[in-house]
Amino acid sequence: MPSTDLWSGVKNILRSRISADDFEVWFAPLGARSVADRLTLVAPSRVYADYIRDHYLPVLQDCAAQAAGHAVAVTLDIAGDTLQAPPPTHRGAPLNPRYTFAAFVPGPSNQFARAAAQSVAENPGRAYNPLFLYGGSGLGKTHLLHAIGNEILARNPRSRVRYVPTENFVNELINSIRLQRMAAFREAYRSIHMLLLDDVHILAGKERTQEEFFHTFNALHEAGHQIVLTSDTSPAAIQGLEERLRTRFVWGLVADIQPPDLETKCAIIREKSHTEGVDLADDVVLFIARRVRENVRELEGYLNRVIVYCTLTGQPATLETVRNALTPLLPEERHATPADIIRFVAHHYGVKVADLKGRDNRRSVAFPRQVAIYLIREILSVSYPEIGKLFAKHHSTVMYSVETITEERRSNPSLDATLTTFIEHFR
Ligand code: ADP
Ligand code: MG
Repeated sequence: MPSTDLWSGVKNILRSRISADDFEVWFAPLGARSVADRLTLVAPSRVYADYIRDHYLPVLQDCAAQAAGHAVAVTLDIAGDTLQAPPPTHRGAPLNPRYTFAAFVPGPSNQFARAAAQSVAENPGRAYNPLFLYGGSGLGKTHLLHAIGNEILARNPRSRVRYVPTENFVNELINSIRLQRMAAFREAYRSIHMLLLDDVHILAGKERTQEEFFHTFNALHEAGHQIVLTSDTSPAAIQGLEERLRTRFVWGLVADIQPPDLETKCAIIREKSHTEGVDLADDVVLFIARRVRENVRELEGYLNRVIVYCTLTGQPATLETVRNALTPLLPEERHATPADIIRFVAHHYGVKVADLKGRDNRRSVAFPRQVAIYLIREILSVSYPEIGKLFAKHHSTVMYSVETITEERRSNPSLDATLTTFIEHFR
């Protein structure tokens, strides 16, 4: 099949598997070459290539196999330079060399899990066994798991660390049963030094797998070999998990990861943009951080899009450019205008729109006006002079309003809660 046909076939299948936005951002700009059973995608930059390799290689391989009717090796190319998938050094899935402790940005939301992971990497089998990490999707569980593995291998490259997505464990088990290779399966698992099992919540309801894992767990634990597990919920909340496994999951240490707060999101954005060789101004960092709800994966998607957009258009990453870059990912924001916000605030405080825009400086009007100004800045990132025009005020007055409300929000929890609801409403 000629390359363009194979690639359009792959794209058609891919479209049905991932969101339209992701498709637009990541796959529309790719070129393709193909010979025989190899498909080479040509990415416009390293950011693109890395991101696709880290996030989409398996699904691309799958789609390519489906489109071609046989296995196809998918590789990525940038400027004539071919990136190979890292060779698997151990049985099990490869560790991502970029998921290290050094690259993991600490914050109050993750410091417990991070410290626990670090002490396990320093004292495997002795600190806490098992270590059970849980938290919502995209919060860094897999990253920490790889960080432990990378750290162990850095100290001792011969250590038998095995990173296994639970899905692989399930599939290997099914295959081993089918091919009557259970003895080999057990032997393979029991001879390893450290088992990093990702997403154990998917064991829910899989009785046969749980049974087998129970024995694997016991064998490793008795031998003093470290087990680290991740899950999207706590052990208690995994439905359809055998009691004896649940008990074992809490033998060592259970540590949770919470969604990052705003400061941590900003720190992650700074760290990641710095790694990409891009330095973003503080207002830009804040703009991106505020748009991310609670997921670091989403944050990376936004940031990558900003970097790619600025690279492709040759524009500097100003607030304006960044807003344009992210507009397609922020569908609701396009609908809100300053006028909407002014109307909303006027209604909430029971004052007239004309009064908000007028000269009356009594607190009953001046305060809602400051709130409206603050929200327009906060939600739409409109510049101070532009906001000034809307209210017929000097831009220094606008800045003062924003500062006043920012201060008050800090000291007044009920105002803070109200404004949070307003902001959610418009985002
Ligand atoms: P999970 O396994 O919890 O769903 P991941 O570990 O896959 O999440 O994290 C999603 C992405 O966010 C990864 O690219 C990871 O490197 C990044 N990430 C998450 N938390 C942090 C952090 N604290 N510092 C730096 N990167 C992070
Ligand atoms: Mg994960």
